[in-house]
Amino acid sequence: MLPYGHQIVDEADIAAVAEVLRSDWLTTGPKVAEFEAAVAAFTGAKHGVAVINGTAALHTAMAALGIGKGDEVIVPPITFVASANAVLYQGGTPVFADVEAGTLLLDVEKAANAISPRTKAIVAVDYTGQPADWQALRKLADAKGLFLLADACHSLGAGIEEGQIERKCGTFADISALSFHPVKHITTGEGGMCLTDNAALAEAMRRFRNHGIGQTAKEREEAGAYHYEMQSLGFNYRLPDINCTLGISQLKKLPAWLQKRRELAALYTEKLKGSAAKPLARRAGTSHAWHLFMVRVPAQKRDIVYAAMRKAGIGVNVHYEPVHLHPYYRQHAGTKEGLCPVAEAAAKELLTLPLWPGMEEKDVDFVTQNLIKALG
Ligand SMILES: *Cc1c(COP(=O)(O)O)cnc(C)c1O
Repeated sequence: MLPYGHQIVDEADIAAVAEVLRSDWLTTGPKVAEFEAAVAAFTGAKHGVAVINGTAALHTAMAALGIGKGDEVIVPPITFVASANAVLYQGGTPVFADVEAGTLLLDVEKAANAISPRTKAIVAVDYTGQPADWQALRKLADAKGLFLLADACHSLGAGIEEGQIERKCGTFADISALSFHPVKHITTGEGGMCLTDNAALAEAMRRFRNHGIGQTAKEREEAGAYHYEMQSLGFNYRLPDINCTLGISQLKKLPAWLQKRRELAALYTEKLKGSAAKPLARRAGTSHAWHLFMVRVPAQKRDIVYAAMRKAGIGVNVHYEPVHLHPYYRQHAGTKEGLCPVAEAAAKELLTLPLWPGMEEKDVDFVTQNLIKALG
């Protein structure tokens, strides 16, 4: 089966991890800050706070922004459930605002209409690896006094043109959340990171991932002091040095992998031209990180095409069924069909094609030939 996404781990990655296993610090050691600094430098963000997965990154961000009971947070429905679940973890209320018909990114006008006196933040997702309309979102958030949170789990390496330079995803929101799950751009096994330019938010997030305790074990060890203070209620969301060292090694390969993803996406676009499988619309003035290559096929054929592709050994998928239609949200938030009609209609047509940097042109040929055949 050709999977929709897959990690690439080489001998340099393995050697790096083996070296950490022989060191004194398996967790809370020097590799954590090194990985945080490397990812921050890559994106241009000032601070990185590594956590155990992307979901924990979203939760940590919500906590640092002070989301709590009674607060509403605007979330798009076309995303992984974790984007909205993170609001629930803090006792807040996710409010779903529909997506744009072409890109399936958060519709800024719909987000504006969803603002109430209780709204505290907006989450936008750089869905598939394409940047959301961060300029418009920043204008809206500033005008209304709201926080902006980026679910940037798809968009490591993407960016938006600002004059002659490209500003990268991870720098647009007050906090941006990354995931290093094996299907994402780089992997640490499980892993995630919060990026911010705000030192106070970074400090709050470091505390939150460490039980709400200010000092790390290493800092206490170095100070020779037993005393520590728990200042707020946090979690153990720390990312071990074992994982961070894999991340440092993986990050070196990210530019080449991004290039490969872009080449494969261009091949898909070319080979599907004139077929009934339509790629999502592109936003002008942005560069795409291509976490996912999605096509839209006629809704009545989608499940037939899905089954035919799986039978041919092609690991197609669907990203995503709308969050507000999951049984938990229907039961606990009272959401239902009709809340986000654009997302609901699009979701019935979505199909995820395999895309990861270990693929070759012949794999793209294999996928597109089978897709065109399955579409009749
Ligand atoms: C992967 C992903 C997450 C969660 O990341 P994990 O590391 O799996 O917890 C959250 N949001 C989006 C959009 C994702 O793709």
